[in-house]
Parts: sequence; structure tokens; C-alpha cells
Amino acid sequence: MALIPLESELTVGPGIYCADVTYLKLSPSKAAAWVDCPRRYFYTYVEHRRSTRSWAHFSFGLSIHNALREWFDLGPDERTPDVVSDVMSGVWIDAGFKDPEQASHWRARAVEMVTAYVESLDPAFEPFSSERTLAFKADGFIVEGRIDRIDASGDLYSIVDYKTGKSIPDADEVRGSQALSMYALMVQRALGKECFGVSLHHLPSGQVVQWTHTQESLQRHLDRVSQIASDIVLAQDTWEGAEVSAEVSAESLDEQIRDDVFPARPSALCGYCDHWDVCTVGQGFMDRKQPWDGLAQEVGYSR
Ligand code: SF4
Repeated sequence: MALIPLESELTVGPGIYCADVTYLKLSPSKAAAWVDCPRRYFYTYVEHRRSTRSWAHFSFGLSIHNALREWFDLGPDERTPDVVSDVMSGVWIDAGFKDPEQASHWRARAVEMVTAYVESLDPAFEPFSSERTLAFKADGFIVEGRIDRIDASGDLYSIVDYKTGKSIPDADEVRGSQALSMYALMVQRALGKECFGVSLHHLPSGQVVQWTHTQESLQRHLDRVSQIASDIVLAQDTWEGAEVSAEVSAESLDEQIRDDVFPARPSALCGYCDHWDVCTVGQGFMDRKQPWDGLAQEVGYSR
């Protein structure tokens, strides 16, 4: 597999240091961007296009994640349901909401959800870590990600991922989640801990859905991620090779190669895509959504 030069030198996660050699770094959200729509991957990770648009549903989800992190960072005596409102005040993000009234409504909803969630916890409960970024080197690429929470019970570690979207997850979603499986492998390989349990904690419903992987099922997920990494490397190598010839070729050649190796894959996500403004395929597929439309849809926060 060819290596994509991303940085001249890279330190990723505890205990992993790579000098001289650079690798494709693949987070679960980056892999998902490729699978959902290679053109979206191109705009985001190859062209590094910045979006000026904020989405209310992202603000809502991110605020909840931040509030839970801050709450767990408090001392055991301070960590009560009563302080959630104050904690939320410090981390709430207003961006993307229609107006202050709408933001205020959703902020109250966020406080309600987080309060109910922490009330459901054993007061003596202590997570192993909250919002921790880990990485490990796989075959020719690096898997990295930020894990909402890692729990520990004796020598057994498990992954917790918070969900704030509308749809209630089921066991198939948890078992099939590439992100959760990569997080479990991060704990195994970056921290050297035994980790097979993964769970989604759905805050709107209070439901917790768990799954216990085997080493074989985690390896199957890693094999699929490895295939995604190979596809990305091939596409990016093709694109970078084409950029050299673009100096002497027609501009349309660039577009043709981009269309071939990073094809647009329109879907219901187009209206929420940060790159809709520059994507004629997405524009032809569906209208632009308003920044607050995702609040009423099945679009959750993810990273
Ligand atoms: S608008 Fe749709 S087709 Fe275009 S990049 Fe975004 S997700 Fe892909």
C-alpha cells in the first residue's frame, strides 16, 4: 500500500511515534465520509474546504457531549444532577439555531436529558476516562478517534458512545458499528487493556444497548476499515498523480479524474452536507436544508 504524505512527522496516541514515515490517519468519521460519499471526502480531506455554516443539531449534540465530559470532570462530591444546568451553561453552543427562543428550548431539552441520564447512574460510578483520543497503527495506516467514555470493571474495559439523535439504536447497530469496534481496538492496542464490550447510550430515550465483541469480530471490522484505507490511498495517489499532469493538461481533466476517483454519491444527507454550495450533484439531488432542520430529523451528532 502506498503511503499518503500528511505530515512530515507524527505523534499519535500514547506510545505511538512515527518519524520519517507518514501514514494515512483514519478516524471513524473520516471512514464514514468516504463510504457515504467519496466526493464529500474529497472536499473535506483533500481540498480541506472549510464550511462557514453551523448546524443546530451538531451544536445540540456537541453541547451534550461537552456537558457530560465536564460533569465527569467534577469531583465526586460535586457530581450531582443539580449542577447539570450550570455545567451546560458553560459549554452550550448556540450556533445554527433559528433564533434565541429556539436555542433556549433545545438547551432546556439538553439539560433535561443530561440530568435524567446522570440520575440513572450509580452515585459511586467512576469512568476510567472521558473524551479520550487514542490511536493505533494498523497495516499501513493509523486508526484514531476520540472516545466518549471508557469504563472499567476489574481488568475488563468497555466503550460507551453517547447518542443524541432521534432513532433508538438496536443490537444490530451496536454490533455493526465500525466506530465502536475501532474504539475497542484502540483501547486494546494503545492502552494494552482487555476491551470487547461496546455500548450506545441513547440519551433521549435513556436506553442502553450493549454488545460484546470477540477478537474475531473486531478483526473483521478492522479488515473492512483496512479496505477503506486502501481505497482512499488508491484514490488519493491517483489524484496526486493527476495533479502533476494538470499543469499541462486541460482543467477538465482534473474534474474528470476527480469525478472518477472521488465519485459523488447523493443521498438524503446532501441537504445537510457542508459542501452542497459547491457540489452540483448534491444541488441537483435535493434542496439545501436550513441550519436548524436537523433538529427534527434523524440526524445525530457524530465525529
Ligand atoms: S452534496 Fe451530496 S453528493 Fe455532494 S458532496 Fe455532499 S453528500 Fe456528496
